[in-house]
Amino acid sequence: MSKVDRNEVLTTMRSIVGNKFANSDDYLLDNYAYQYLGDLATGGESKFTNRPICVVLPSTTDEIVKIVKYCNENELQFKAQSTGWGAHNCAGQEDEVIILDCRRMNKILDIDTKNMIVVVEPYVISGQLQTELFKLGLNCHVAGCGANGSQLVTVTSMCGQGWTGISTGFSNRNIIGAEWVMPEGIVCRIGSWGSFKDSEDPEKVIDASEWFLADGPGPSIRGVYRGYFGAFGGMGVFTKASIKLYDWPGPKVLEIQGRSPNYSLVKNKMPENCDTYHIIWDDWEDFKDAGYLLAYSEICWGLCRIQGFDMALAAASNNTAMYTEKIFQDLAHRGGHELMVLIVADNKKEFDYRQKVLNYIVEKTNGEYNPLTQIKPMKALAFLAIIRQCNTTRGVFRAGGGFHTSLGALGSWDWCVEGAKIGERLKQKAIDFGGLVDDGADNVWGNPYEGGTFSHLEELFMYDITDETSRKAASHYLDSVIEANKIYPLGIGLGIGDMEGSAHQCDLFGPITSNYHTWMKAIKYEFDPNNASDPGNYTEGKKFEG
Ligand SMILES: Cc1cc2nc3c(=O)[nH]c(=O)nc-3n(C[C@H](O)[C@H](O)[C@H](O)COP(=O)(O)OP(=O)(O)OC[C@H]3O[C@@H](n4cnc5c(N)ncnc54)[C@H](O)[C@@H]3O)c2cc1C
Repeated sequence: MSKVDRNEVLTTMRSIVGNKFANSDDYLLDNYAYQYLGDLATGGESKFTNRPICVVLPSTTDEIVKIVKYCNENELQFKAQSTGWGAHNCAGQEDEVIILDCRRMNKILDIDTKNMIVVVEPYVISGQLQTELFKLGLNCHVAGCGANGSQLVTVTSMCGQGWTGISTGFSNRNIIGAEWVMPEGIVCRIGSWGSFKDSEDPEKVIDASEWFLADGPGPSIRGVYRGYFGAFGGMGVFTKASIKLYDWPGPKVLEIQGRSPNYSLVKNKMPENCDTYHIIWDDWEDFKDAGYLLAYSEICWGLCRIQGFDMALAAASNNTAMYTEKIFQDLAHRGGHELMVLIVADNKKEFDYRQKVLNYIVEKTNGEYNPLTQIKPMKALAFLAIIRQCNTTRGVFRAGGGFHTSLGALGSWDWCVEGAKIGERLKQKAIDFGGLVDDGADNVWGNPYEGGTFSHLEELFMYDITDETSRKAASHYLDSVIEANKIYPLGIGLGIGDMEGSAHQCDLFGPITSNYHTWMKAIKYEFDPNNASDPGNYTEGKKFEG
């Protein structure tokens, strides 16, 4: 229990950020307690989790430092939030946590086109950044949560899977510098920040060319502040991030027609030297071989598994169309194992070459271009959806309102496919038992990264949030995945969580993964002695005894 009451907290916060930018009205606290995975955290009871004590909208690093120090001095906790779209954005306990909503820190601070680096603040979303980058012939990796997720969060605090990872990497490897307000309020600048000459442009606040070293000399500081999965707000606040960029050979602007939810490329016309292909393999082994060949061939700008059911959901503009129109039903129930390939080439010669290699691989591995998706409107929609990451939600939330994921550890492609087979079996059992949306059971989403050097495939599942049986079925399915982890070498996946929270997950998986959890706890203990950075979705600190 904190030694200060809510009114005192609010008065102090207002003195730091201004009256308009701190609030603790009940209606507002309820809003910040909403979490799209809340039902899984509350045993299927509610979408609302813990209410914070106060919500603050800081606009500078200095303000954040003051708030963090205040929490340390008053037995309070703080938790940063950027867009609030992600999992784990809520307070770990009721009435003890100040939420730092970073939406006022929303600037792209600098783009270094030569070295392909951008420096951003927390509320720069992927869609906003991509719009600016395309004009410069550059692109960023966009996490699978879609265009509305924060670029900074995906590289500093969460994981980093995304549709185009074959050509745009993985978020936790794309970070190359950060400004980090550590749990006790000390500012740490990681990278080579400030070690070179001042920028020649006096208008520049920051020179991105200076932010290029992810780890620094000595032990990996990136391993400390984020590791594989990120700390979910349990290790301080990130106020700036420098991120690696990639080449974009496509058009500077994608011409769009229509209005949400019915919009696509103008006249469904694909930009020059670009195309999308949805390919099906009936046999897992052929699918495996094709994944490797496609990844190693370096012809794909995007390469990702998307199952027909999800594709139909994303393509149909409403549920009635999805469940009544033949094309969507055929697509949803075709079966087989699919990969979506995107080719984006610099010129016609290069495009022809890539297409030729693709045809060769499809033929050699007994694949088939899905005729249902080879029509112009489908191709255009898929291209837009994957490049701009603009219809993730309708693909996963619309069937039942509830969506979560399971399995999905990083590893070799063939190992991921073996995990997918287990996921399919477990899901089929849960669907047969009743409660989960029947998506055909095998609904792994994922892809090879960085030319195929590593991969992930996560088993998605959907449930009806209005139906208690369905919510419980979702929890039971997750439990079955945890049990399977004890039998099969499935690795630490996503959504492995059960109701007992992140710390419990670490205790389950740590012992089979080099006891990583003891190091996590030791780092948390040393860096956050007052436990001020909300450990609720991360881990409590514990002195290392060894
Ligand atoms: C439908 C859906 C699909 C998703 N698919 C993927 C996927 O394929 N790949 C993937 O990597 N992720 C995925 N995610 C999770 C995704 O990583 C996050 O949603 C996203 O990166 C977080 O951005 P955000 O701004 O919404 O974060 P928020 O919701 O604001 O926060 C997410 C976490 O980061 C912490 N955080 C936020 N800002 C800061 C900060 N400035 N400093 C310190 N900590 C902070 C929060 O405390 C919280 O724990 C998915 C999420 C959804 C909803």
